[in-house]
Amino acid sequence: MDLHSHLPYWLIKNGIISTFPSLKKDEHTDIAIIGAGISGALAAYYLSDCGYKVTVIDRRHAGMGSTAASTALLQYEIDTPLSKLIKLVPKQDAIQAYKLCREAIYTIQEICRNIDTTAHFRVRSSLQYASYKKDTTTHKEEYLLRKKQGFDVTWLEPDDIADKYGFDAPGAILSKDGAEIDAYKLTHGLLNYATANGATVYDNTTIEHITCTKNGTTLQTNTGCYIKAKYLVMAGGYESLQYIPKKVAEVHSTYALVSEPMNTEEFWHKNSLVWETAMPYLYFRVTDKNRILVGGKDDAFYNPRLRSSRTKQKAEQLVETFTRKLPHIQITADFSWSGAFAVTKDGLPYIGTIPSLPNTYFALGFGGNGIVFSVIAATIIRDMIMGKKNADAGKFSFNR
Ligand SMILES: Cc1cc2nc3c(=O)[nH]c(=O)nc-3n(C[C@H](O)[C@H](O)[C@H](O)COP(=O)(O)OP(=O)(O)OC[C@H]3O[C@@H](n4cnc5c(N)ncnc54)[C@H](O)[C@@H]3O)c2cc1C
Repeated sequence: MDLHSHLPYWLIKNGIISTFPSLKKDEHTDIAIIGAGISGALAAYYLSDCGYKVTVIDRRHAGMGSTAASTALLQYEIDTPLSKLIKLVPKQDAIQAYKLCREAIYTIQEICRNIDTTAHFRVRSSLQYASYKKDTTTHKEEYLLRKKQGFDVTWLEPDDIADKYGFDAPGAILSKDGAEIDAYKLTHGLLNYATANGATVYDNTTIEHITCTKNGTTLQTNTGCYIKAKYLVMAGGYESLQYIPKKVAEVHSTYALVSEPMNTEEFWHKNSLVWETAMPYLYFRVTDKNRILVGGKDDAFYNPRLRSSRTKQKAEQLVETFTRKLPHIQITADFSWSGAFAVTKDGLPYIGTIPSLPNTYFALGFGGNGIVFSVIAATIIRDMIMGKKNADAGKFSFNR
């Protein structure tokens, strides 16, 4: 798959952080992980910490799949509002999914402290405004439901929004819990931690065949080597879809830009993450060097050529939409890019096993909250491999 078009900001900003060799000989390991993006890196972090011999394999360079393209807002509010999710899955599961996502934000904070990375983790409140007056009633119901379930949320009226954020909206939910990160840098921090724990990472190595039995897994690479492992973690991002017999997600295209650096330090209330109720939604946040990141204008197709050809025009549209919303902040796009992303029917990720691939654990953090889902996936998979009961595993299983 072609995962992103043009150069994502994080790749230019960070360049090559670390590279790993390709695999040139057969290998035996406890756990093979396909994918050295944020999902594979988190799995490697947890599993190597538990004393397993871990081998991570990536056909690209580590972190250079979807992770490098991520705009990396860390939010517990998934793309499906809680009030809608409780109609799609059992109510307690929906609430717990939201709570797990909130917990995952702070788990990332703890991990960043533990691995001593400079991935710029920063707690940020998150504002979701009603895009249209007609959305206000359901948005307020969403606020009341979340408040009742113990989430730290405040309802903002139009005057508060204008005062704190400098734009007009008929109502908004301000959540205390949210954060931002440089996902590409975090991935490298996690992989470095895992390699210090004895893990091995291979770049430029494609897994071409997978044979799974009850006794273990054999992976064949494009370099003609074999990896034998007791367990396989499938963290191949959207490219993992080929291994799943049923259709669990649709792949769309999304667009983003980062502005030129500006002189202002606080653009709106505490530089919150901002997004809206309309789908696809516009979102914006502030990055390092006082740049404003704007994303959205999604297309409901995966067509990398068309996506690529539209990237510049979409960036212009994002600037125009942002400037219409906040005319007092004039931004100029410095870097723009686009990428594939997968959506599921309920907005929840797929984590766990499928019958056709025994001893294989999928970590598919599909949806707008891919990074927090990757944290949830890594902890559930760690528990499954260790034979520990995880009460949340069923909520994200393939047969939910
Ligand atoms: C523009 C954009 C904005 C986004 N914004 C956000 C956001 O604000 N917040 C958020 O949480 N998420 C966001 N996401 C989603 C997030 O980026 C993804 O959920 C996340 O990066 C997925 O990580 P991953 O490790 O699962 O996949 P990847 O980063 O794609 O890693 C998978 C790796 O597996 C490797 N691989 C696949 N198959 C094989 C094989 N057969 N052999 C060897 N290697 C293989 C690939 O090369 C790849 O490097 C955004 C995505 C995009 C594109």
